[in-house]
Amino acid sequence: MKKPTICRYCGGKVILTDSSQIYGKDYGKIFLCTTCNAFVGVHKKTEKPLGTLANSILRSKRKETHQVFDKFWKDNNMSRTEGYKWLSEKMGLPYKSTHIGYFEIEDCQKVIDICEQAA
Ligand SMILES: [Zn+2]
Repeated sequence: MKKPTICRYCGGKVILTDSSQIYGKDYGKIFLCTTCNAFVGVHKKTEKPLGTLANSILRSKRKETHQVFDKFWKDNNMSRTEGYKWLSEKMGLPYKSTHIGYFEIEDCQKVIDICEQAA
């Protein structure tokens, strides 16, 4: 995933900064839009973004999706990898693109629906 430099929501400047700017506590680096505060975290000790820049609505939707999906594969005795393989087939996406951090609201809802139907 490419490092964001321009915000996909507002076109503002995106900087790599400390998460304490947002959380008041340091959870590592984030890419942050200096205009609208959309942000995304990075993989630990790297500058690789975890997904696409997200505003607050999308961030909470991705969080909800993770809770549902992580519970689903654990409840079904799948490994994390098996869970994502299963999800990629259900979503009709390549395994490599199956990351909640890349998903928009609609994709997140699809994941939730798929998990609920399969449960
Ligand atoms: Zn922005």
